Amino acid sequence: MAAMLGALAACASVPQAARNPLADWRPSPNHNQRKAQLIVLHHTEMESASAALLTLQTRNSGGPVSAHYLIGNDGHLYQLVAESERAWHAGAARWGGIADLNSASIGIELDNDGQSPFSEAQIAALLVLLDDITRRLDIPRHLIVGHGDIAPIRKNDPSVLFPWQRLAEAGFGLWPHAQPAAAPVGFDPWSAMRLIGYDLSDRPAAARAFHRHYRGHEGEQWEAGDADLLYDLQQQLMDLSTAP
Ligand SMILES: [Zn+2]
Repeated sequence: MAAMLGALAACASVPQAARNPLADWRPSPNHNQRKAQLIVLHHTEMESASAALLTLQTRNSGGPVSAHYLIGNDGHLYQLVAESERAWHAGAARWGGIADLNSASIGIELDNDGQSPFSEAQIAALLVLLDDITRRLDIPRHLIVGHGDIAPIRKNDPSVLFPWQRLAEAGFGLWPHAQPAAAPVGFDPWSAMRLIGYDLSDRPAAARAFHRHYRGHEGEQWEAGDADLLYDLQQQLMDLSTAP
């Protein structure tokens, strides 16, 4: 009986499915849970947080979706999925070398109809949550992106009204200096886009995503100032990669 209880206890701590039958199980205590590497922001494009909760908690007609968190327009914070689990918010997406964004990220939905400004209460709650998550999960504070950034062909959220500069002033996300230096002659904006993480398989869509995030519009053509801005972001990333 004691042996059986012991066996049951062992089963309870490590699910049988976690063990590969090809191998001898020699458990080690020297491990912890895998964790997210970046944070993806969305807008719900729905009329209310309660409508969004219903979609995020059920098998809705468009297929099941979820996110780790939802922040209401009033700033109320809901959690739907544990951070250690894989929420279904990114879909087909790519960021740098990461192709499975759901496995690699924490997803945060913002209750917003896609056309209205984001409320002060909601952004204040988001900043508190970002501070909490980046500290606990040790996620670099610049690795906060929009769904439209990681899926530029399919998605446009959060909308052009999302206050990325406000986030940057609080220390989150990648953002250019106020007076970026002039890009050198021969600078290739696409190489900077690739370094930042953008998928370039549809370059007009990638430029649209970049402009939505950094310039407040959704144009597909390069314009004056883009090269300087991209050069500034590229230099910041190079500095981060060489920081001790
Ligand atoms: Zn989204």
